[in-house]
Amino acid sequence: MRVHVSIHDVSPAYEGEVIHLLDLCHARGIKPALLVVPNFHGRAPLPDAPAFVDSVRSLSASHELFLHGYYHRSTAREGVRAFVDQRIVSAGEAEFSNLTIGECAELVNAGTEMMRELGLRIDGFVPPAWTMAHGLLEVLTARGCEYTEDHLTVRRPKTGETWPSLVVNFASRSRTRALTTTLFSRLSMMLSLDVRTRVALHPTDLRVPFLHGEIARLLDWAKTQELSTAAQLLSA
Ligand SMILES: [Zn+2]
Repeated sequence: MRVHVSIHDVSPAYEGEVIHLLDLCHARGIKPALLVVPNFHGRAPLPDAPAFVDSVRSLSASHELFLHGYYHRSTAREGVRAFVDQRIVSAGEAEFSNLTIGECAELVNAGTEMMRELGLRIDGFVPPAWTMAHGLLEVLTARGCEYTEDHLTVRRPKTGETWPSLVVNFASRSRTRALTTTLFSRLSMMLSLDVRTRVALHPTDLRVPFLHGEIARLLDWAKTQELSTAAQLLSA
């Protein structure tokens, strides 16, 4: 089975956790994709952390780099749909859930520009909490983006190619959800369905003690699979 491993929320705000997750992956020969947030919650702009940026740039020689939102925080609006997306699905992190096409373009452009100025390559775009406003895909398509994903698919916006894909991650913001997602993670390892699978690690997972063992187990399993890049997930 093709398995893609990534570390989300790569930001100076989570430097210690990102290093910890990288160590866990590297100890198993896994080179995870890094999902970089240009200015996490408006309080961790990459240009203010040159040593962190240098490390990410050197890692990019052997790791994929994806742009992962801009602030990674929603400009919360009212309404049932917004409430579900923000409070339940993502605890306020679904930055692109309710934006106009113009707002999507503005954030994608600002993030792209910052990465370019810092000499960081961009291999694709992954929206925070995998939540896409309708306009986001149009923006990514217009930019010739090579890779994006949501909960159920991986996609090359440039050509429109789309494949079904499963995400295995731990929802570490609440204990109940952490338990549910752990069960799901164990189940998908057991079943080893023949489907493109994405293992997504989050810095906040490390705050839940029992998830440390689950992450190790998941990575031990991942290294026995066909470890793949995004481009490999998108090939037939
Ligand atoms: Zn994220």
